[in-house]
Amino acid sequence: MSEQANPFESLQEQIDDAAEYIDASDDVLERLKHPERVLETNLSVEMDDGSIEVFKAFRSQFNGDRGPYKGGIRYHPNVSRDEVKALSGWMVYKTAVVDIPYGGGKGGIVIDPDEYSEAELERITRSFATELRPFIGVDRDIPAPDVNTGQREMNWIKDTYETLENTTAPGVITGKALDSGGSEGRVEATGRSTMLTAREAFDYLDKEMKDATVAVQGYGNAGWIAAKLLENLGAKIVAVSDSSGAVYNSEGLHARDVKDHKNETGSVVGYAGADEEFGNDDLLTLDVDLLVPAALENAIDDELAREVQADVIAEAANGPLTPEADDVLTERGVHVFPDILANAGGVTVSYFEWVQNRQRFHWSEERVNDELESVIVNAFDDLTSAYEEHDLPNFRTAAYVVALQRVIDAYEEGGNWP
Ligand code: NAD
Repeated sequence: MSEQANPFESLQEQIDDAAEYIDASDDVLERLKHPERVLETNLSVEMDDGSIEVFKAFRSQFNGDRGPYKGGIRYHPNVSRDEVKALSGWMVYKTAVVDIPYGGGKGGIVIDPDEYSEAELERITRSFATELRPFIGVDRDIPAPDVNTGQREMNWIKDTYETLENTTAPGVITGKALDSGGSEGRVEATGRSTMLTAREAFDYLDKEMKDATVAVQGYGNAGWIAAKLLENLGAKIVAVSDSSGAVYNSEGLHARDVKDHKNETGSVVGYAGADEEFGNDDLLTLDVDLLVPAALENAIDDELAREVQADVIAEAANGPLTPEADDVLTERGVHVFPDILANAGGVTVSYFEWVQNRQRFHWSEERVNDELESVIVNAFDDLTSAYEEHDLPNFRTAAYVVALQRVIDAYEEGGNWP
């Protein structure tokens, strides 16, 4: 989604693009371009000084044809109705492409959480959970963390829901702490799906992962885990970056050491094992075998895309390429493996968390990782089959074609309720 573009309109365009390759009627497609419902609410919350502040909040339930709505809750000043609607639509595709039995949802509060105390954030979160209560549920809509929310907020939402419903229902929300019903393997899940996607991509393209050179933009949760796991496969992590800059070593950086350095100093910059440092954009145009954008959306625009020298891109971040950059890379033959597959580990292990909550049974980390591997590998095979069968222009279109077809099939099998 480019900064100028309305994300909801971008989503609708992507549906139209994928629909070109699918036999679907216009009325069914029209239905899939709009959320089923959007809750918009104003939370009145008491601040620590006794004043009352009002916060706008949303929850969009985009499509539930394949299962309960699923998607995170974001706390950010830029949250808007259209952003939440678009993000909920992208969740429909993400859950469909990895074939887990969910629809798509997303929520958010318009807030800069840094400006509030923990006690205020708890009251704001519990107020939102109270508004959400009639809409969510283990079989209805299952929120999760997103930007600026994590285990703490999920635990508050679970507790509020269970208290008001007078029940125990850990499966009403995922991304919880382990003691509150969270899953093993959740923290590593997103980076793990990026590694698995890259591994399968290299295999598919007949490229060797051993000694392959890798650059990772963004050394947070998704980026550092992807780097560590790719290193375990024998790849050479030659460059990583964060918001302060990039570090480089042609012989390879040590993923764990760079992470320790970032934990100690707040940045990857200054890491002693690097022999060069440069700006963020330079990392994106390095001559490497694999580029992993794992920071923010719109990291690569069409101008930068013309200078990208990587052979393969695995998107750990959501929407790191502008649509124009995507077109340029397709034209230049750079293979892009899309976010809805390469970072789907997070939602997939959220699904495992929900399954464990329903079973009242705790899986080992090994089991979680094995199940995740089979979900991502199967999804990768479905995507490449569609790519070949329909002679599609790129792997992103393939992912959307697979996902859209699954949603349409589920809808048509159920039929329309008048
Ligand atoms: P994070 O906050 O842990 O890490 C983000 C990293 O990006 C930080 O190190 C930050 O310094 C760096 N960064 C910011 N701006 C940068 C820039 N201009 N250049 C280089 N680095 C920059 O976040 P995360 O959880 O790792 O998420 C990263 C991306 O992955 C986001 O797009 C997110 O939506 C996506 N994602 C994450 C998950 C998950 O489970 N964590 C799941 C799905 C998608």
